[in-house]
Amino acid sequence: MTEKIIIAIDGYSSCGKSTLAKALATKLEYVFIDTGAMYRSIALYFLRNHIAFDDQASIISALHNIKLHFEFNADTQKSDIYLNDENVESLIREMSVSSKVSEVASIAAVRDFAVAQQQAMGIDKGIVMDGRDIGTVVFPQAELKLFVTADPLIRANRRLLELQAVDPTITLAMVAENLQHRDLMDSTREHSPLKQADDALVLDNSHITKQQQFEIALKWALERMG
Ligand code: C5P
Repeated sequence: MTEKIIIAIDGYSSCGKSTLAKALATKLEYVFIDTGAMYRSIALYFLRNHIAFDDQASIISALHNIKLHFEFNADTQKSDIYLNDENVESLIREMSVSSKVSEVASIAAVRDFAVAQQQAMGIDKGIVMDGRDIGTVVFPQAELKLFVTADPLIRANRRLLELQAVDPTITLAMVAENLQHRDLMDSTREHSPLKQADDALVLDNSHITKQQQFEIALKWALERMG
C-alpha cells in the first residue's frame, strides 16, 4: 500500500510547472492546485474593484469578499478557478492581470489569505501544488519538492505560443518583459520570496520534452511513496 505524499513544485514564471503538476496529479490520482490562479483571481478582483495596492484597510475588506474555489472542467480535463462563483480561468491569463499579479502577490495580507487556504487543501495529503513558495512556506514538510527552471528565452517563446492563440497582437518582447518583471518581483519581495528550498530537487526542462520531465518527476515521486 503506497503512502500519500505532498508534492510541492516551485520555480520561475512559465517554466511548465502547472503542466507537470497536472500530469503528476492525473497519474497518481492526486488533487492538483495551481496557486498562481489564486493570486491571479485576487488581482483580478482588486483591479475590477479599484483597490489601491497600498490601502491596507481596503485590501482587508476586499479579501473578506473574495471566495475562491476550483471545479473540474470535463472539456479541458483540468480544474478551473472560480472567483465568487464566476469562472475566471481564461480572464486571469490576460496581460492586464499578468502585469499586476506580482504586485498583488507581494502584499502580506494577500499571502496570508491564500496560504491558509492552500494549507487546508493539503490536510489529507495526496496533493500536487505548484507556485513560488510551496516548498518553503506552504508545505515545508512536503515529501517531494521540485524546483523547475528553464532558459528565459525558451520560457518566453513557449508562453508566446499559448498567448498568441488567444491574442495575436502579443509579441515576444511583451512576454519576455512580463516574465522578467514577475521573476524579479517574485524573487526579491519581502514576504515569502521565490527561492529554491534547501531540500528541493532541481529540474531544468530547457532541453527535455514534457514527457521526459514527467518521467523524471514521477520516478522521484514513486521513490518517496514507499
Ligand atoms: O504561476 P503563475 O505564473 O500563474 O503565477 C502568477 C503570479 O502569482 C506569480 O508571478 C507570482 O507573483 C504569484 N504567485 C506567488 N506565489 C505562488 C504562486 C503565484 O506569489 N505560490
